[in-house]
Amino acid sequence: MKHSNVALFIPHNGCPHKCTFCNQKNIVGQSSQPNANDVKNAIEIAVNSLKENTKEAEIAFFGGSFTAIDRRYMLELLDATKPYIARFKGIRLSTRPDYIDDEIVALLKSYNVISIELGAQSMDDEVLRLNERGHNSEDVRNACKIIKNYGISLGLQMMTGLYGSDFYKDIYTADEFIKLRPETVRIYPTVIMQDTELANLYNSKKFVPYTLEQSVDLCSKLILKFKNENIKLIRLGLHYSESLEKNSLGSNYHPAFRELCENKILLEKTVELIKNYYNKSADFFEVYVNPHSVSKLAGQKKSNILKLNSMGYKIKIKTDKSLDEYEIYIKQR
Ligand code: SF4
Repeated sequence: MKHSNVALFIPHNGCPHKCTFCNQKNIVGQSSQPNANDVKNAIEIAVNSLKENTKEAEIAFFGGSFTAIDRRYMLELLDATKPYIARFKGIRLSTRPDYIDDEIVALLKSYNVISIELGAQSMDDEVLRLNERGHNSEDVRNACKIIKNYGISLGLQMMTGLYGSDFYKDIYTADEFIKLRPETVRIYPTVIMQDTELANLYNSKKFVPYTLEQSVDLCSKLILKFKNENIKLIRLGLHYSESLEKNSLGSNYHPAFRELCENKILLEKTVELIKNYYNKSADFFEVYVNPHSVSKLAGQKKSNILKLNSMGYKIKIKTDKSLDEYEIYIKQR
């Protein structure tokens, strides 16, 4: 069962902020804003296709600014869910940390909002300032506290490689997230979109983004960090779209970004085990992984196997259901 079965994108037309990475200002008027009828239609389509399974599904309002949009419009959208909400698990939404307070969270709770994701982006105040986010890390901490006080599930979103950031600051952000104990996180490596302040900074050489390799290196570490803390990583990297590929600058965007990171995790674990624990003169190993991790260990187009071969190691991949997705063990043959 999918996590959210009714997903509506709510753009923040007229947003007063000017985040360096956002090109929404340039597409205002072009991005259509769903109304109550659109919400109703989307829910009815889901109800018809899910039948009795709606209880497992969520109604999701994405876009990143739900509580910052015009209040009357926000209530119109929430009111449209009312006739159906008892048949669903609840509502999930994403918003900015500085548009969260007791009043709004109590209101959301009354509409059966069960999960709120905050676009924190960074926990480094200088990075937030340089990227003109209009909020600071304390706003994130306060918002998390309020959401948790109301018993609502907390999600946090971070962007890696923002203007002014570095590996140290991105890892600091992940560590600060862990202290806030979210149920879920999303990681978005910064993608430079055309017609943004970030594109200006990039074109004038004031912003040097991570290379794809650096980004994979960092995010593979973040995957393990959250995994070790039992915090669910529900998204890594932007969803693929043709326009994203066409309108982004630099080389940091990859449509299968998470896969690249997972390939790296399993390659490094294999090399480490072989080097540290096994007879270095041996050259053939059976590497055991969870059945779902076979392609992650093999790598895209068998890239990991080829790398291991080039290091002098031949491997045969075997499966063991008792292993977790990033766990491996090796038998020497
Ligand atoms: S990313 Fe920033 S500028 Fe863009 S809509 Fe959200 S708050 Fe506004």
